[in-house]
Amino acid sequence: MKTEPINGKFELMALPFTANALEPAISAETLSFHHGKHLQTYVNNLNAALSGSKFEGLTLEEIVMKADGGILNNAGQILNHNLYFSQFKPYCEQNEPVGELAAAIEREFGTFQEFQQQFQVGGATLFGSGWVWLAADAQGKLHIVQEPNAGNPIRRGLKPILTFDVWEHAYYLDYQNRRVDHLVQLWHILDWQELNHRYTE
Ligand code: MN
Repeated sequence: MKTEPINGKFELMALPFTANALEPAISAETLSFHHGKHLQTYVNNLNAALSGSKFEGLTLEEIVMKADGGILNNAGQILNHNLYFSQFKPYCEQNEPVGELAAAIEREFGTFQEFQQQFQVGGATLFGSGWVWLAADAQGKLHIVQEPNAGNPIRRGLKPILTFDVWEHAYYLDYQNRRVDHLVQLWHILDWQELNHRYTE
Protein backbone atom coordinates (compact mmCIF):
# COMPACT_ATOMS: atom_id res chain seq x y z
CA MET A 1 0.00 0.00 0.00
CA LYS A 2 1.47 3.32 -1.10
CA THR A 3 -0.44 6.42 -0.06
CA GLU A 4 0.00 9.28 -2.53
CA PRO A 5 -1.01 12.89 -1.81
CA ILE A 6 -3.69 14.43 -4.02
CA ASN A 7 -2.62 17.89 -5.23
CA GLY A 8 0.00 17.82 -2.48
CA LYS A 9 -2.53 17.05 0.28
CA PHE A 10 -3.39 13.91 2.20
CA GLU A 11 -7.03 13.12 2.90
CA LEU A 12 -8.84 11.44 5.78
CA MET A 13 -9.29 7.77 4.84
CA ALA A 14 -12.85 6.52 4.44
CA LEU A 15 -13.87 3.80 6.89
CA PRO A 16 -14.72 0.48 5.20
CA PHE A 17 -17.56 -0.29 7.68
CA THR A 18 -20.49 1.48 9.36
CA ALA A 19 -20.05 3.47 12.58
CA ASN A 20 -21.45 0.78 14.91
CA ALA A 21 -20.08 -2.27 13.04
CA LEU A 22 -17.23 -2.82 15.50
CA GLU A 23 -19.36 -2.79 18.65
CA PRO A 24 -18.93 -3.94 21.34
CA ALA A 25 -15.15 -4.06 20.73
CA ILE A 26 -15.07 -0.38 19.66
CA SER A 27 -18.14 1.82 20.16
CA ALA A 28 -19.51 4.17 17.52
CA GLU A 29 -18.61 7.05 19.84
CA THR A 30 -14.96 6.00 20.13
CA LEU A 31 -14.78 5.40 16.39
CA SER A 32 -16.25 8.84 15.73
CA PHE A 33 -13.66 10.62 17.89
CA HIS A 34 -10.74 8.40 16.91
CA HIS A 35 -11.31 8.65 13.15
CA GLY A 36 -13.17 11.95 12.82
CA LYS A 37 -11.20 14.00 15.38
CA HIS A 38 -7.83 12.43 16.21
CA LEU A 39 -6.94 11.13 12.73
CA GLN A 40 -8.40 14.23 11.07
CA THR A 41 -6.12 16.39 13.23
CA TYR A 42 -3.02 14.43 12.17
CA VAL A 43 -4.08 14.90 8.53
CA ASN A 44 -4.61 18.65 9.00
CA ASN A 45 -1.32 19.06 10.88
CA LEU A 46 0.68 17.14 8.27
CA ASN A 47 -0.83 19.06 5.36
CA ALA A 48 -0.01 22.36 7.07
CA ALA A 49 3.56 21.27 7.88
CA LEU A 50 4.26 19.84 4.41
CA SER A 51 3.34 23.00 2.56
CA GLY A 52 6.57 24.39 1.11
CA SER A 53 8.72 21.69 2.77
CA LYS A 54 11.10 19.33 0.94
CA PHE A 55 8.70 16.44 1.67
CA GLU A 56 5.79 17.91 -0.31
CA GLY A 57 4.61 15.45 -3.00
CA LEU A 58 6.20 12.34 -1.44
CA THR A 59 4.11 9.32 -0.47
CA LEU A 60 3.21 8.85 3.18
CA GLU A 61 5.63 5.93 3.39
CA GLU A 62 8.49 7.99 1.92
CA ILE A 63 7.81 10.79 4.39
CA VAL A 64 7.83 8.34 7.32
CA MET A 65 11.16 6.93 6.13
CA LYS A 66 12.86 10.32 5.59
CA ALA A 67 11.35 12.89 7.96
CA ASP A 68 11.83 13.63 11.63
CA GLY A 69 10.18 15.83 14.27
CA GLY A 70 6.60 16.97 13.78
CA ILE A 71 6.37 15.88 10.15
CA LEU A 72 7.45 12.33 11.07
CA ASN A 73 5.05 12.19 14.00
CA ASN A 74 2.00 13.34 12.03
CA ALA A 75 2.81 11.26 8.92
CA GLY A 76 3.49 8.23 11.12
CA GLN A 77 0.18 8.62 12.91
CA ILE A 78 -1.68 8.83 9.58
CA LEU A 79 0.07 5.75 8.19
CA ASN A 80 -0.51 3.85 11.44
CA HIS A 81 -4.20 4.76 11.66
CA ASN A 82 -4.80 3.96 7.97
CA LEU A 83 -3.39 0.47 8.62
CA TYR A 84 -5.32 0.20 11.89
CA PHE A 85 -8.79 1.16 10.66
CA SER A 86 -8.51 -0.76 7.38
CA GLN A 87 -7.71 -4.03 9.21
CA PHE A 88 -11.17 -4.26 10.83
CA LYS A 89 -14.49 -5.80 9.82
CA PRO A 90 -17.82 -6.19 11.65
CA TYR A 91 -17.68 -8.00 15.00
CA CYS A 92 -17.86 -11.80 14.96
CA GLU A 93 -17.47 -14.30 17.79
CA GLN A 94 -15.26 -16.85 16.01
CA ASN A 95 -12.45 -15.18 14.08
CA GLU A 96 -9.16 -16.83 13.12
CA PRO A 97 -6.24 -16.20 10.74
CA VAL A 98 -6.36 -17.49 7.16
CA GLY A 99 -3.99 -18.42 4.35
CA GLU A 100 -0.22 -18.06 4.35
CA LEU A 101 -0.36 -15.69 7.31
CA ALA A 102 -2.11 -18.35 9.43
CA ALA A 103 0.67 -20.81 8.52
CA ALA A 104 3.37 -18.24 9.31
CA ILE A 105 1.82 -17.51 12.72
CA GLU A 106 1.80 -21.23 13.58
CA ARG A 107 5.38 -21.58 12.36
CA GLU A 108 6.62 -18.66 14.46
CA PHE A 109 4.48 -18.90 17.60
CA GLY A 110 3.27 -22.52 17.67
CA THR A 111 -0.43 -21.71 17.91
CA PHE A 112 -2.71 -18.75 17.21
CA GLN A 113 -3.56 -18.68 20.93
CA GLU A 114 0.11 -18.38 21.87
CA PHE A 115 0.52 -15.56 19.35
CA GLN A 116 -2.52 -13.76 20.79
CA GLN A 117 -1.05 -14.05 24.27
CA GLN A 118 2.35 -12.67 23.25
CA PHE A 119 0.80 -9.87 21.18
CA GLN A 120 -1.46 -8.80 24.04
CA VAL A 121 1.50 -8.74 26.42
CA GLY A 122 3.26 -6.54 23.87
CA GLY A 123 0.34 -4.12 23.96
CA ALA A 124 -0.15 -4.29 27.71
CA THR A 125 3.50 -3.65 28.62
CA LEU A 126 4.11 -0.74 26.24
CA PHE A 127 4.59 2.18 28.62
CA GLY A 128 2.65 5.30 27.68
CA SER A 129 1.36 5.85 24.14
CA GLY A 130 2.26 3.72 21.15
CA TRP A 131 1.52 0.75 18.97
CA VAL A 132 2.18 -2.98 19.05
CA TRP A 133 2.81 -4.50 15.61
CA LEU A 134 2.98 -7.84 13.90
CA ALA A 135 5.52 -7.23 11.14
CA ALA A 136 7.34 -9.40 8.58
CA ASP A 137 10.99 -9.32 7.55
CA ALA A 138 12.24 -9.86 3.99
CA GLN A 139 12.18 -13.65 4.52
CA GLY A 140 8.55 -13.58 5.66
CA LYS A 141 9.48 -14.31 9.29
CA LEU A 142 7.08 -12.64 11.73
CA HIS A 143 8.06 -10.33 14.59
CA ILE A 144 6.10 -8.66 17.39
CA VAL A 145 7.39 -5.11 17.69
CA GLN A 146 6.54 -2.41 20.24
CA GLU A 147 6.74 1.15 18.91
CA PRO A 148 6.32 4.20 21.17
CA ASN A 149 4.37 7.28 20.04
CA ALA A 150 3.96 7.31 16.23
CA GLY A 151 6.46 4.54 15.43
CA ASN A 152 5.99 2.25 12.43
CA PRO A 153 8.11 -0.85 11.70
CA ILE A 154 8.90 0.28 8.13
CA ARG A 155 11.67 2.35 9.70
CA ARG A 156 13.25 -0.94 10.88
CA GLY A 157 12.98 -2.46 7.41
CA LEU A 158 9.95 -4.57 8.41
CA LYS A 159 6.58 -4.79 6.65
CA PRO A 160 3.66 -3.84 8.94
CA ILE A 161 0.84 -6.42 9.00
CA LEU A 162 -1.35 -6.03 12.10
CA THR A 163 -1.42 -3.34 14.75
CA PHE A 164 -3.18 -2.49 18.02
CA ASP A 165 -3.26 1.19 18.94
CA VAL A 166 -2.57 1.53 22.68
CA TRP A 167 -2.91 5.30 22.90
CA GLU A 168 -5.59 6.00 25.50
CA HIS A 169 -7.75 7.77 22.89
CA ALA A 170 -8.26 4.34 21.25
CA TYR A 171 -10.15 2.91 24.23
CA TYR A 172 -10.67 5.38 27.07
CA LEU A 173 -14.34 6.25 26.36
CA ASP A 174 -15.27 2.54 26.36
CA TYR A 175 -12.81 0.95 28.78
CA GLN A 176 -11.29 3.85 30.79
CA ASN A 177 -7.95 2.54 32.15
CA ARG A 178 -8.62 -1.14 31.27
CA ARG A 179 -6.33 -1.41 28.26
CA VAL A 180 -6.16 -5.20 28.27
CA ASP A 181 -9.98 -5.53 28.36
CA HIS A 182 -9.98 -3.52 25.15
CA LEU A 183 -7.16 -5.46 23.49
CA VAL A 184 -8.82 -8.86 24.01
CA GLN A 185 -11.92 -7.59 22.17
CA LEU A 186 -9.99 -6.56 19.07
CA TRP A 187 -9.50 -10.20 18.01
CA HIS A 188 -13.23 -10.28 17.14
CA ILE A 189 -13.01 -7.50 14.54
CA LEU A 190 -9.82 -8.33 12.63
CA ASP A 191 -10.22 -8.81 8.90
CA TRP A 192 -7.82 -11.72 8.39
CA GLN A 193 -8.34 -11.70 4.61
CA GLU A 194 -6.97 -8.16 4.55
CA LEU A 195 -4.12 -9.05 6.93
CA ASN A 196 -3.19 -12.10 4.84
CA HIS A 197 -3.22 -9.88 1.75
CA ARG A 198 -0.75 -7.52 3.43
CA TYR A 199 1.50 -10.44 4.32
CA THR A 200 1.49 -12.01 0.86
CA GLU A 201 1.52 -8.91 -1.39
MN1 MN B 1 -5.06 6.35 17.63
